[in-house]
Amino acid sequence: MRIDGSGTLRANCVLCPNPGPMTLDGTNTWVLREPGARGVIVVDPGPHDERHLERVARTVQEQGAQVAVTLLTHHHPDHSDGARYFSELTGAPVRAVEPELRIGGDGLSDGDTVEVDGLQLRVLATPGHTADSLCLHLPADDVVLTGDTVLGAGTTMIADDGLAAYMDSLHRLRELTESAGVRALLPGHGPICTEPRDKLAEYIGHREARLAQITAAVEAGDRTAEEIVARVYAGIEEGVVPAARSSVRAQLRYLAKRGDIPAELGEA
Ligand SMILES: [Zn+2]
Repeated sequence: MRIDGSGTLRANCVLCPNPGPMTLDGTNTWVLREPGARGVIVVDPGPHDERHLERVARTVQEQGAQVAVTLLTHHHPDHSDGARYFSELTGAPVRAVEPELRIGGDGLSDGDTVEVDGLQLRVLATPGHTADSLCLHLPADDVVLTGDTVLGAGTTMIADDGLAAYMDSLHRLRELTESAGVRALLPGHGPICTEPRDKLAEYIGHREARLAQITAAVEAGDRTAEEIVARVYAGIEEGVVPAARSSVRAQLRYLAKRGDIPAELGEA
């Protein structure tokens, strides 16, 4: 089975030229098609960049194919803002978790199967990065499209109060990877990851290491987010202190709920 830099047998990436600190090289728009079939599924058209959207539509057309449906992995504008224009270009409906992002299409929920012309995708709800984040399992190629839940490089941002959900999502992805023999992750940004077990272990390990540092700070006597930031994030720039503080508060809530630290510290 082919898995290379640009995709797999059924999944090909068209990179949007919107690089940045949050988007890495840019947004990956995924074009999925069963070999020889006419119907195509597009995942994450990307931001409202008309040249990029026209390029995706043209790529599909040149293959003698047609977009049957567009899916959104989550609501962030670098994935979804181009959906309306792309739907105008292709005439294809847009499906998303959030009702206001759908265009003539149904919702998407955990366990759904999306099938177009012999190509099958299974929806896995993976909240954390955002409440509406999902991953798409493409069993025929043994790959999972991960949106921003797992990126090709670095770690992802987590929504306020999304930490417990995010940890659950990572564990579910790891279970799926094991049980279904997933061979690669196709992220919303950055390169394809061909070591999905290692990547998920690294993501879980990174979060657990931070949580262990916070637990240790509490055991050493810290009681407020300010004290913990000063110890755990010593030397960070002034500008990111508020973000660090809110991240510490989220982790305290999570640890308190998990019973690792006294409950009252979760309300700090
Ligand atoms: Zn993104």
